[in-house]
Amino acid sequence: MATKLLLTFAICRLIVTVGLTLEPTELLHLGVDGQLSLHPSDVESASRDFGLLTRAQPLAVLHPSSALDVARLVKAAYGSDHGFTVSARGHGHSINGQAQTPNGVVVQMSGNGVGPRPRVWAGDMYVDVWGGELWIDVLRSTLAYGLAPKSWTDYLYLSVGGTLSNAGISGQAFNHGPQISNVHELDVVTGKGELMTCSEEQNSELFHAVLGGLGQFGIITRARISLEPAPQRVRWIRVLYSNFSAFTRDQEYLISLNGSQKFDYVEGFVIVDEGLINNWRSSFFSPRNPVKISSLGSNNGGVLYCLEVTRNYHESTAASVDQEVEALLKKLNFIPTSVFTTDLPYVDFLDRVHKSELKLRSKGLWEVPHPWLNLFVPKSKIDDFNRGVFKGILGNKKTSGPILIYPMNKNKWDEKSSVVTPDEQVFYLVAFLRSALDNGEESQRLEYLSEQNRQILRFCDDDGINVKQYLPHYTTQEEWRDHFGSKWDGFHQMKKKFDPRHILASGQRIFRPTF
Ligand code: FAD
Repeated sequence: MATKLLLTFAICRLIVTVGLTLEPTELLHLGVDGQLSLHPSDVESASRDFGLLTRAQPLAVLHPSSALDVARLVKAAYGSDHGFTVSARGHGHSINGQAQTPNGVVVQMSGNGVGPRPRVWAGDMYVDVWGGELWIDVLRSTLAYGLAPKSWTDYLYLSVGGTLSNAGISGQAFNHGPQISNVHELDVVTGKGELMTCSEEQNSELFHAVLGGLGQFGIITRARISLEPAPQRVRWIRVLYSNFSAFTRDQEYLISLNGSQKFDYVEGFVIVDEGLINNWRSSFFSPRNPVKISSLGSNNGGVLYCLEVTRNYHESTAASVDQEVEALLKKLNFIPTSVFTTDLPYVDFLDRVHKSELKLRSKGLWEVPHPWLNLFVPKSKIDDFNRGVFKGILGNKKTSGPILIYPMNKNKWDEKSSVVTPDEQVFYLVAFLRSALDNGEESQRLEYLSEQNRQILRFCDDDGINVKQYLPHYTTQEEWRDHFGSKWDGFHQMKKKFDPRHILASGQRIFRPTF
C-alpha cells in the first residue's frame, strides 16, 4: 500500500513537473514490479557520482525488478506526448554526471536484489549477468565453477552495463582486448522501449553500437560474458625505470609477445613526486625495502616510471613460475636493484583497489571531488607527451593521485564498436586519477587540478598529439563530432534508429532531448 502511495505521488510529481499528458492511472498500470521511488535518499544518491563535480536531481528513481520494468518505463517515456528522459545508473562511478538526468527518471540498475542472479554456463564458458551486476559479484559467481572473466577493470565495484558502455580496460587488455571485446550477446532496452537481444549474428548493428556506446542506444539488461579457467594465484612484480624510452620499449615488447610465455597483465605508472609512494595503490612498496626511491630518480628530474606485471598460475604449476618470470624479466632494462615481488591469491589481486578504497574511506579521502582525466595517446607521440606533461606541466609537482600509463594493441579492439581510439596499432592509456582536497595546499585544490587538466589538453592540441579521451567528457556537439571523427555519422545514424527522441543517457550531453 505504502509503495503504491509513493508511486502515485512520484507519478503526480512527474506529471506536474514535466507536463505529461498521461493520466496517473496509466502510469500506475505500467505494472512495474519494482519500485518507482521519490524517496529523498534515492533522489540524492542518483543526483551525485564519484566525481562529485556535478549534481543533477532526477524526479524519480526506478528500482527495476526485471528487464520488462525497464522496457515499460522507457516505452512510457517514448510514447508520451511530452516525453521525459531516462538514464541507467550502475554504481554511479562516473566523473562528470554521465548517469545523471535532471528532471527525468534514473533507472538504478545496481543494488541489492535488483535483477536476476548471474547464471554460469560452465560447459559453454560464459556467464549471463544482469546489466547492473557489479564485476566483483560476477567474479564471485563464476569462481564457484572455477571460472572467471578474462578482461577486467582495476576496480571491481563497477557495473557491467557501466563499463561496457565505455570499454572496460586494465592490464589484461593488451592480450584479451577490453571488456567490450569479451561479450557474446546482450539484451538491450532501446530508446523506443523495445527489449532486443543482439550479438554479432543477431541485430548486430545494435550490438556494436551499444558496446562503448556511452548509454546512447539502449539500456543493457543482460550481458553474456566470456570466461576462462580461473587462475589460483598471481606473482606480482614491480620494477622501476628512470629512462622513459627504456620503460616504454619494454612495455611495448611485453605486449607484442605471443604464445604462452608472456605476462598476463601489463600496466605501469609514473612517479612524479615521492608523495605517491605513500598514496593509494602503492602499499606494495614496503617501507622496509632497502631501495631509496628518491635516489633512483635523482638524475632524471625526479621522474620515475614503474612497470607492473603479473603472471597467473595454478598451485599445481607453482614450481615453474619462478623460472618463467625470471626468463621474461631477463629481457627487460629496468634498474636492477628495483625489483619488488609479491605473491597472492587471484581474487586478492583483482580486488586490490578495494583495499585502498577502504583505507581512503577511513581517512575521509574517498568521497572528495575527483577531477580525473583519461587519455588514449598514440605510441608515436608518447615521448612528446612525457616531455611536455610528466616532466613539463607536472614536473616535480604534487600529482594528487596515481598516474597510470600502459600500452594496448588496437587489433584487440573491435573497430565496429562505438568506442574511439587513436589511429595507430599501439596506443597508451594515460590516466590522471586525482583527488582534490579543499583544505589542502593550493596544488591539491579542485580548481588547480582542473586547470592542469585543461593545460594538458591544450598542450596535446598545440603539439599535434592526437589524443582521444577515454570516459570522454564534452559539453558541445561540435566537440563530440570531433571526438568521434569518422565514426560520428554512424553514431548519429544509430541514435536516430534506436533512440530517436534522445531519451537515454542525456547526462553524456551528446544529444539534446527532442521534447
Ligand atoms: P555509471 O557511472 O553508473 O554509468 C556510466 C554511464 O553508463 C552512464 O552514461 C550511464 O547512463 C551508462 N550506463 C550505466 N549502466 C548502464 C546500462 N546497464 N546500460 C546502458 N548504459 C548504462 N574504467 C576502466 O575501464 N578501467 C578501470 O580500471 C577503471 N577503474 C575505475 C576505478 C574507480 C575507483 C572509478 C571510480 C572508476 C573506474 N573506471 C575504470 C571507470 C568506470 O569504468 C566508468 O566510470 C564506468 O562507467 C563506471 O561504471 P558504473 O557502473 O558506476 O557506471
